[in-house]
Amino acid sequence: MDSKYNPVSIEQKWQKTWAEQNQDQTPTNNNQPKFYALSMFPYPSGNLHMGHVRNYTITDVIARLKRMQGYRVLHPMGWDAFGLPAENAAIDRGIPPAKWTLQNIAQMKEQLRRLGFSIDWDKEVATCTPEYYRWTQWIFLQFFQAGLAYQKESAVNWDPIDQTVLANEQVDGEGRSWRSGAKVERKLLRQWFFKITDYAEQLLNDLDKLPGWPERVRTMQANWIGKSVGAYLEFPIVGMDKKIGVFTTRPDTVYGVSYVVLAPEHPLTEQVTTPEQQATVENFIKEVAAESELERTAEDKPKRGVPTGGKAINPFNNKEVPIWIADYVLYEYGTGAVMGVPAHDVRDFQFAKQYDLPIKTVIVADDSDNDDDEMSEAYTDVGIMVNSGPFNGEKSTFAKKEIIQLAEDEGYGEGRIQYRLRDWLISRQRYWGAPIPIIHCPKCGAVPVPDADLPVKLPESVEFSGRGPSPLAKLEDWVNVPCPSCGTPAKRETDTMDTFIDSSWYYLRYPDATNEQQVFDSEMVNDWLPVDQYVGGIEHAILHLLYSRFFTKVLRDRGLCNFDEPFQRLLTQGMVQGITYKNPVTGKYIPFADVNPEEPKDPKTGDKLEVFFEKMSKSKYNGVDPLEVMAKYGADTARMFILFKAPPEKDLEWDDADVQGQFRFLNRVWSLVTQFSTNNSFSELKAKTNGITQADLKDLGWSRYLITEITKNISAFKLKNVVKVYAAADVKVAIEAKLNHSETQQETKDDLHKGLSWIEGRFGEELTKAEKDVRRAVHTAIKEVTEDLDGDYQFNTAVSEMMKLSNALSDASCKDSVIYAEGLETLLLLLTPFAPHLTEELWQIAGNLGSVHTHPWPKFDPEALVVDEITLVIQIKGKTRGTIQVPAKADKETLEKLARESDVAQRNLAGKDIKKVIVVPGKLVNFVVG
Ligand SMILES: [Zn+2]
Repeated sequence: MDSKYNPVSIEQKWQKTWAEQNQDQTPTNNNQPKFYALSMFPYPSGNLHMGHVRNYTITDVIARLKRMQGYRVLHPMGWDAFGLPAENAAIDRGIPPAKWTLQNIAQMKEQLRRLGFSIDWDKEVATCTPEYYRWTQWIFLQFFQAGLAYQKESAVNWDPIDQTVLANEQVDGEGRSWRSGAKVERKLLRQWFFKITDYAEQLLNDLDKLPGWPERVRTMQANWIGKSVGAYLEFPIVGMDKKIGVFTTRPDTVYGVSYVVLAPEHPLTEQVTTPEQQATVENFIKEVAAESELERTAEDKPKRGVPTGGKAINPFNNKEVPIWIADYVLYEYGTGAVMGVPAHDVRDFQFAKQYDLPIKTVIVADDSDNDDDEMSEAYTDVGIMVNSGPFNGEKSTFAKKEIIQLAEDEGYGEGRIQYRLRDWLISRQRYWGAPIPIIHCPKCGAVPVPDADLPVKLPESVEFSGRGPSPLAKLEDWVNVPCPSCGTPAKRETDTMDTFIDSSWYYLRYPDATNEQQVFDSEMVNDWLPVDQYVGGIEHAILHLLYSRFFTKVLRDRGLCNFDEPFQRLLTQGMVQGITYKNPVTGKYIPFADVNPEEPKDPKTGDKLEVFFEKMSKSKYNGVDPLEVMAKYGADTARMFILFKAPPEKDLEWDDADVQGQFRFLNRVWSLVTQFSTNNSFSELKAKTNGITQADLKDLGWSRYLITEITKNISAFKLKNVVKVYAAADVKVAIEAKLNHSETQQETKDDLHKGLSWIEGRFGEELTKAEKDVRRAVHTAIKEVTEDLDGDYQFNTAVSEMMKLSNALSDASCKDSVIYAEGLETLLLLLTPFAPHLTEELWQIAGNLGSVHTHPWPKFDPEALVVDEITLVIQIKGKTRGTIQVPAKADKETLEKLARESDVAQRNLAGKDIKKVIVVPGKLVNFVVG
């Protein structure tokens, strides 16, 4: 036996063995409760970083724990493999996107294997393979048939570097592309959309069904959906037979409208503009077109606008108001027009002040009527109506309903609910994505590619220039096809789908990942879903999670699954931060390898460096390579550190000293178990006790069932001494469960009762105090670790508990006892999900036959926590004179007796007259003397 802990060779050995034994395969039976543990799948960039390691370690611990707790577990992994980087690699280096992507996948898969993740690789999916995107296309056609996929001309975000359209969500707060960083422009194009707005209300309401999600994520989703309740009102245009429709949440302020604003892109803009204003309006439209949506609506930016010269009529009071256009009104949002009520809206107030538009108060606070005063800011609260015709004097909250009623009666408008959420733009003018399976026929319009012709494969001989339209649009042979419906020469759609579509359904494919006949078997998916625990980054709080929820609801409505929400519980893990050195003078980041941490200076300029923790990234030279850490300390230490250093949802600061600390802890566990095993020769013991036990049981006439049950529940450690309390507990539990089972035959029951009395007769031996102390430490650890993991996965405190237990075992004075063996075994079992390789190796060294990973999670015995003795304080006239140890359950009388007899009392009471004795059970005895 190797006496030194050698993580790398142990890890390689077990990874190989587990793979040969298919240990991570998903069970196919369904007589156990299911648990679906899912990590957000990675983009195959080629290299695993610490963020990945953290994400997948968390999920792996959960998966391994749940297996030990008796669940059948699905723990799959795949690749979010379409997207721009592969295409950029093709442009930069001439490598075909498919080749680049598959190479990266192979590399990352090997890295994941080395971390010892219990992933069922038979379930692997890669979204870029025809076997997968065939079904992405099929799902697109489901949306198309349901009227949820449609085309429209739209002002889109145009990335001038990548030459492609971006979704709003892919543009950052400064109006730049999320990938290229280019300043995004606006451009009109015909695009495919998914009608997510049809599901806005459900997506909002069903957030209530997700108590297992972080509150923060649910709030972000609710804000993104942005429900507002109000009214749609129409303002007739002077001199035209047309009306401007606006949405307002404050119809109670309609008498205060002093202008109406159209989005510059609104089709009515051109029609209402007077000849005098034409040049001004056209110039303004050009200026606004260069701005991104985020710039236009930024709260801290002054709003700009110009009058069109046109006028509209407020139908409530028949007053004419000017029509303006302004940058802050977006055509894609709401009706593309708003009513301006400067007295009661902050933005309108600023706009009116800036352009000298009238400000008319129509609501005042209850205690004031001085509505003629010059206002210094908008009054946005509710109050009493003034200057509002028939509604004067009413409460505004009440008038709001009456005004909507009036609008409906008179045909001015109606009550309406509006959402901030807009339809999802899914077209991409790119090659490396799933082609949209539509053929455009001059006679029939947009015709779906028949199911039998799916997948529409990506052609392979493609030139990547990085300029102009999608590479697909240049392939004549691929584009020109007959219409599947009428045979007329037609053209393929050349847009591919947003990669967010690929990731909106991958979790539905895993349970049935290799199905070639269907997108998935509904029965299998209904069995495994919803995902019990989803783990991933907070950056996906809105889009990926919202889209996945949307897909689930649509597929449910198509009869493909029977649940409303895909992810029962969500854990958003924090970032992994590295120590970062920055030169404050040059603004440059300095690699930590070049810096003396004692005295951080720029090696080139000598400037003193700023030192702080920040998310690991290549550009900041602060990353730690997981492979290097694994080579030095092993995967188990890397896992332990990541779990120990911070609660999973908090950011984690990489610290080499703490990595070493965890390495030392695993070494300590290694020596504890190997030393014990050397002294106790486990394998011999096991062979011997196995025989004795089984023979014993047979002598008692026990059934083969019972013998199997018992030996299954007794491991090598326990076999050392079956006649002690501890081993009995597990066997008793098994027998009692069988006794209570309704289908158990009377004959078997008699047998079981016989077994129980046998156990009770033989297992009653008293433990020594040292044994009781160890047993208390062991069962406290089981209780604490289980609670830490069953609640919110507080891995860090769970590791602390295990460290405490290892200390208690180190210090134990009963190292030849079965109770000590129980302690070691329990420590290994608790540690198993965290350090899977080390524990497996030690489990075998201890003489066990099966894998530690198939052993049940330890159960805690409340009786083990009971304390036998307590410390009693002895007082004389209220002053503490000493303490004695007494039985915890002793009554008042006994306590007084023990106190009187104690040395402390004898010494202090000699020759004194005891007037009164005060006994406080559990605490003290006070002698009042004269
Ligand atoms: Zn046709």
